Amino acid sequence: MEKYILSIDQGTTSSRAIIFNKQSQIISQQQYEIKQIFPHDGWVEMDANEIWRSVSSCITAIMLKTDIDAQQIAGISITNQRETTIVWDKRTHLPIYNAIIWQSRQSRDICNELKDKGYDALFNYKTGLKIDPYFSATKLRWILDNVKGAQDLADDGHLMFGTVDTWLAYKLSNHKLHVTDYSNASRTMMFNIRDLKWDDEILSILNIPYSLLPDVYPSSYVYGKCSVYPFSNLNVNICSIAGDQSAALFGQGCYEVGSVKNTYGTGCFLLMNTGNKIIESDNLLSSVAWYIDGKPTYALEGSVFSAGSSIKWLIDEVKILSEASLSSEMAKKLDDNENVYLVPAFVGLGAPYWDDMCRGSMFGLTRSTNDNHIVRATLESIAYQSRDVIDLMLKESNLVLNSLKVDGGVTKNDFLMQFQSDLLQTEVAVPKSSEITALGSCYLAGLAVNYWNDIEDIKQTIASSKTFNPQNTEAMMDYYYDGWLLAVDCCRKFKRN
Ligand code: ADP
Repeated sequence: MEKYILSIDQGTTSSRAIIFNKQSQIISQQQYEIKQIFPHDGWVEMDANEIWRSVSSCITAIMLKTDIDAQQIAGISITNQRETTIVWDKRTHLPIYNAIIWQSRQSRDICNELKDKGYDALFNYKTGLKIDPYFSATKLRWILDNVKGAQDLADDGHLMFGTVDTWLAYKLSNHKLHVTDYSNASRTMMFNIRDLKWDDEILSILNIPYSLLPDVYPSSYVYGKCSVYPFSNLNVNICSIAGDQSAALFGQGCYEVGSVKNTYGTGCFLLMNTGNKIIESDNLLSSVAWYIDGKPTYALEGSVFSAGSSIKWLIDEVKILSEASLSSEMAKKLDDNENVYLVPAFVGLGAPYWDDMCRGSMFGLTRSTNDNHIVRATLESIAYQSRDVIDLMLKESNLVLNSLKVDGGVTKNDFLMQFQSDLLQTEVAVPKSSEITALGSCYLAGLAVNYWNDIEDIKQTIASSKTFNPQNTEAMMDYYYDGWLLAVDCCRKFKRN
């Protein structure tokens, strides 16, 4: 009887279930969209019950539409949007507030207060993160402050906190499991990535009772039985939990120290495997990438705010592009950028600039600048921003880049992938699988139940579909990059209010 892994990928806009076979091929998939709620400017929430319903519907639908018997599922894996915060009452199993999504800024004041009290360095050393509303800790504090009676319920031991993985494991196990993995825990800003446990001092600063927190286990681990249809009376287990970026790093086969992946979606998420070393950095974040075989592997992380979203801007607002897929050909019509640069600081700039206040700018326009120049400048800006982060990663880690593994919707753009390879003077590899995050999570589950014996076994199934190698000289690319640095500098000088 052939066996399969069922991966659940719970994201910011949709939930997905995918069934993989031993050759890492997708046998079937099911997806449902989820509604985002925007109660105030800068707040982003979701109905936690809807998150669960979408996942449970995906599981039911995928199992009904394939002729795979539930007993043929060797294990279930969970990968998820990180940092998103849910609090529920363990007596009713009901959330006491909406899920607060990672993008939401409603706990900004709590963060400012912590910074004013001078806690920056302490939090950074212990958690590898910067004090920011992005991470779960202040979202949890916000719920305890703003939902009537919540702090008392928490103090009396009635509440549970979880990121989305924890919530899903709780529901999938019919309310038996209150668990998370090291990768998700390390994005909460309450977890000490050195001691690998919830940090008492931080919990006390935030006045968060320990009883709220889930138990933390390895990313590849038999967590417990799945008790929902069609697995209710079977022995099918949840065998892995990992945050989405960790799962993508794993799915890309970035197992060696110094290997880097870049996911090009709405923004870019860059992660570098730093092995057993935590890189202390003022500008980048350190987290546990995964925990397997009794030891953690750390990652250094940086992100680019505007990538695919700038392509969408060209389509929706500027209206010089009718669809994203045309952008590569338009850019290729020019042999050179002719010194036209776009700095897509629509919401400010992330690492290494961390400038909230600057806004998008365009430079070098002449009377002959046309739509091709603007499209090309937009695509180039994605590559320049990625190089900004990678240069910093290499500097801070003292490591060398041998190859960049890439995934995400924007990697369909051949012009950009070639330009990125030239700009980094390194190979850029696009994987065969279009579902790298779910695949990484599937690998982690497979390792826990000996579906695959070890990482060597998995490596046999990883395949690149396309690689790009440098075709332009380093001197030429440095000239382009100098233009970008100058453009960023000028952009940051233009500030109003
Ligand atoms: P996310 O997971 O963040 O929603 P995806 O990985 O699904 O993102 O990628 C979607 C993004 O990819 C969109 O912003 C879209 O504009 C961009 N995109 C899709 N195809 C292309 C292309 N051929 N060239 C450039 N950008 C593209």
